[in-house]
Amino acid sequence: MTAPTIGVLALQGDVREHLATLTRLGVKTLPVRRQAELDTCDGLVLPGGESTTMWRLARTFELLEPLRARVEDKMPVFGTCAGMVLLAERLLDGAEGQETIGGLDITVRRNAFGRQTESFETDLTVAGVKDTVRAVFIRAPWVEATGPDVEVLASVAGHPVAVRHGHLLATSFHPEVNGEDRLHRLFLDTCW
Ligand code: GLN
Repeated sequence: MTAPTIGVLALQGDVREHLATLTRLGVKTLPVRRQAELDTCDGLVLPGGESTTMWRLARTFELLEPLRARVEDKMPVFGTCAGMVLLAERLLDGAEGQETIGGLDITVRRNAFGRQTESFETDLTVAGVKDTVRAVFIRAPWVEATGPDVEVLASVAGHPVAVRHGHLLATSFHPEVNGEDRLHRLFLDTCW
């Protein structure tokens, strides 16, 4: 079987970190800034960073509609932190007019963990992953509501922080920043 090509949306954020993790896991990787690049991908990662900036740039680069079309076409997508915001069907505390790509049947609250705990790390139990995951949260969103087909893989203080909905996977935390690759492996299992 030839390895799938996994793109990383490369408008802003933790692009290098995701590319490095994916490369280590043996897939072909590609930074994605335009539709022609997106067209060649079998799966896509939406990195952590700043969702408002990525949204604005995606609009400028005319990527929003092509991204929505690929999600609708069931391309596997993995969103981390800002990437979770981008995948959410419904957004709370977004910037004025902020749109998402959508597709993942969740309501996400941006910056939900609040100022006093803007960044923290914790050991999380994640369904489908053996042993705990050291999870890094940076001005992280949480999932406020989930649709009936959404599987909650992990929660913090009762709030879902890792969810899966068919071909879509999202985490509030950043597995790309600390060498954690087991969430990427879960995602890649859906890309072959
Ligand atoms: N708060 C950021 C946003 O709304 C997400 C932060 C992050 O990705 N670390 O996009």
